[in-house]
Amino acid sequence: MALLRHTTDDVVERQALTVNPAKTCQPIGAMYAALGINRCLPHSHGSQGCCSYHRSTLSRHYKEPAMAATSSFTEGSSVFGGQANLLQALNTIFSVYDPDVVAVHTTCLSETIGDDIPQIADAAVAKGFVPEGKCVIHCNTPSYVGSHTTGFANMTKAMVDYFSTSTSEDKIADQINIIPGWVEPADMGEIKRLVKMMSLKGITFPDTSGVLDAPLTAEYNMYPKGGATIEQLEATGDSAGTIALGPICSGPAAEALQNKCQVPQNTLPLPIGLRATDMFIQTLRKYNGGNVPAEITAERGRLVDLVSDMSQYFYGKTVALWGDPDQLVSLTQFLVDLDMRPKYIITGTPGKAFLRRIGEVLGDGVKDVIVKQGAQADMLYIHQLIKRERVDLLIGNTYGKYISRDEDIPLIRHGFPILDRIGHQYFPTAGYRGAMRLCEKILDAFLDRQDRDAPEESFELTM
Ligand code: SF4
Repeated sequence: MALLRHTTDDVVERQALTVNPAKTCQPIGAMYAALGINRCLPHSHGSQGCCSYHRSTLSRHYKEPAMAATSSFTEGSSVFGGQANLLQALNTIFSVYDPDVVAVHTTCLSETIGDDIPQIADAAVAKGFVPEGKCVIHCNTPSYVGSHTTGFANMTKAMVDYFSTSTSEDKIADQINIIPGWVEPADMGEIKRLVKMMSLKGITFPDTSGVLDAPLTAEYNMYPKGGATIEQLEATGDSAGTIALGPICSGPAAEALQNKCQVPQNTLPLPIGLRATDMFIQTLRKYNGGNVPAEITAERGRLVDLVSDMSQYFYGKTVALWGDPDQLVSLTQFLVDLDMRPKYIITGTPGKAFLRRIGEVLGDGVKDVIVKQGAQADMLYIHQLIKRERVDLLIGNTYGKYISRDEDIPLIRHGFPILDRIGHQYFPTAGYRGAMRLCEKILDAFLDRQDRDAPEESFELTM
């Protein structure tokens, strides 16, 4: 990574080379989503090396053990397929670790071999390896397409495919499904809090709050209390509506639920920032008779007050952002609302819809923005752009710290993965309160820089 100091501003059009991608692999997302089911053990159908990478990335980000099993492919499985390994794994997992659900995702290798996971799961049931009342669910996550966000979406959709059940044509008026998208456990907690304050019964899935931010107790608990239960997942088919937060991560599950159980869906941006949170609250109003409690109005008012106090410092500041499409769209909107200037926006997750959504957010008012998605939208590319024309702030995951150090530009860590800071999973950036925290982080970065760089005669106590 020290080689970054040799990066030049020479942006060469590349076709077949990615340097430091702005994404991770599909199964990581599937594993994160699966951890949001109560008493679920994610299972990586492939080699131990893949599973180690998936688990270690999640454990390093959340600073919690991310429990998962693997089919432990060897050379033999690569030639003859992984059926025997998965059958043995399921037998061992249910008899030793006693989960309620095993959520199997594939890897590049098992996808290339073409293992048929539902057929293997059926064979495991036939052999009596899956105890009564327990389930095996699956999704396909070939990592040579998509990214960790696609894997998250696929496993979330699998929850609908396997569990959601409609027991009546009459839906439960005050029960809604919330698909929170790939956000921190604390964000899921904040989203649930808002739903509850709106007097609605929410079923949140996946739900990693209480799983990857579980309290430290004297006892080891392989399956923490949090997560959506099987009963809750089944009941999603009877809800009055679904709110999918983020079209990439949550849209496919919401659509599947609409098709399978006729639950109408609303796909919204992730509720990061003022405007996106407003949209979320407005949509919740459709289901609670139109009421917004005074406490939520007060929270919004506090955010607006804070923004007006800080706006003089935000005005015109330029930002480079990278990360997941759903997060980038809402973050960009918030930065525009703060009168800041997003300048470079990249995501390694492919999909042209991202360019359209970012275009809508930027509108005609924000000029000279470079937006790129896909394999060549990597960390080298964003570094080259910064070499050409600097920005005032970086917002993205830990992989930007090398650019931050080399270019001496402050970095706000946001998104996934954050490997070099602790505690982020406990503090939401979603909702009005989360937006206040984001504002504080951004302004602190600017004022810390001002303090550091100020000559003695301009070093101020009050700023
Ligand atoms: S081989 Fe594929 S699934 Fe395994 S870690 Fe690499 S990208 Fe991920």
